[in-house]
Amino acid sequence: MIIDSVILHRLNMQLKAPFQTSFGTVKEKDFYLVEVVDEDGFRGFGETSAFSTPWYTEETTATVKVMLEQILIPKLLAARIEHPDDVTLLFQPVKRNFMAKAAIEGAVWDLYAKRNGLTLAQALGGKKRTIDVGISLGMEETTTALLKKIEQYVSEGYKRVKVKVKPGKDIDVLKAIRKHFPQIPLMVDANSAYTLKDIELLKKFDDFALLMIEQPLSDDDIAMHAELQKELETPICLDESIYSMADVKLAVQLKSCKIINIKASRVGGLTNAKKMHDYCKEKGIAVWVGGMLDSGVGRAHHIALATLENFSLPGDIGGSGRYWHEDIIAPEVVVCRGEINVSDSPGIGYEIDWEKVKKHRVSKEVFQRKRKTT
Ligand code: MG
Repeated sequence: MIIDSVILHRLNMQLKAPFQTSFGTVKEKDFYLVEVVDEDGFRGFGETSAFSTPWYTEETTATVKVMLEQILIPKLLAARIEHPDDVTLLFQPVKRNFMAKAAIEGAVWDLYAKRNGLTLAQALGGKKRTIDVGISLGMEETTTALLKKIEQYVSEGYKRVKVKVKPGKDIDVLKAIRKHFPQIPLMVDANSAYTLKDIELLKKFDDFALLMIEQPLSDDDIAMHAELQKELETPICLDESIYSMADVKLAVQLKSCKIINIKASRVGGLTNAKKMHDYCKEKGIAVWVGGMLDSGVGRAHHIALATLENFSLPGDIGGSGRYWHEDIIAPEVVVCRGEINVSDSPGIGYEIDWEKVKKHRVSKEVFQRKRKTT
């Protein structure tokens, strides 16, 4: 494959409702839809998943743009690619900047699958025809409002509920949830809101039969998570701590977690995500696919990823209508009884809805391969 051009469409989309985590509230998604075009006119799509501020990881929409424009796009436009794995190798000399890399790599995966008449799921080696999904709920002003939301999504059939927690918004909230929903598969995500000093508080989480507690401690605290896991019955799931295979291996070796949340964007792309999935399968670590308040393009990538065998727990892959009044793909992603049917169409399996893209587009930039002139 020779990538002829890369087009960055900057989009700004308002979330249906603000999403509150332990770090703050997200009201809109400002991101880049990345379009890659090869010499035969095949097109692939990816999206940047970083937020506007670095509360989740160090990357932001602005840092991603700099990396794409100055480093990654020029590298891609100067290379010849046989397989999307080559993009991972091509970007390897560039430290971190995983979300910037993943946006391009994802677009190349889509293009590669389309070129070969495969669905992205098939190209990745996924076999599932449907995937199970759970709902991730932000914090609400009142517990009553949260219970109402849970009620709504449980009635829509989502297979597990995840709520965000932080000190002061944890035990009482969980007591209320369990009082009303004693049986629902429930988990919490702390986004690093606790430290080991909170160990007595965190032990109380064991009373609520949680599937897992996600990222209780700081993202650079893989060792401390091992200390905590020794004290907890509830499985720890790592999210922000895991960027590379080295992180996965360290977490497994130290017994820092029993579960890992794999987001293609956080780990530099689908190639790395698949490698982590395979390694975790071998080591008996359960994995599931997380979400980044993605538009339909990122969502479609995650659906394809979740078709791999060891993604045995429901992912944070809601329907398009979970976050958006209107998504930028056609058809939109629909959740039915907690499941999403995997599309049979080539590549990501959804068309780009250009009318919607134009509506939300702030800017468009085209980067072209340099042609040799004689
Ligand atoms: Mg998380």
